[in-house]
Amino acid sequence: MTDSEQPAHDTETDTDTDCTDTETTESAFFTHDDWSNGQPCPECGETLMHVVQVSTETYKHDRGDVEYMSPGAYVESLKIECSDCHELLLRHPAMDALNAV
Ligand SMILES: [Zn+2]
Repeated sequence: MTDSEQPAHDTETDTDTDCTDTETTESAFFTHDDWSNGQPCPECGETLMHVVQVSTETYKHDRGDVEYMSPGAYVESLKIECSDCHELLLRHPAMDALNAV
């Protein structure tokens, strides 16, 4: 009879939940240091971007009818993503409150 004793492997179960504080000290919210708005994708060179923006526009409300009047002066980009490789190039902190976008 061979008594083969194998050392019990100690499996440690470390389930530490790291709270990573993301500090946004920069004024811009670019996720790539070598990329700024207007440049092609740094990953694949794609020039077509998906952009999520907020802007002011003027509409005329008249008894159920809504008529578009004019675009506003305020435009803020919330998210810019490459349309080809879906690389995230810009993310505004306000996006954290917009889970559905
Ligand atoms: Zn890309």
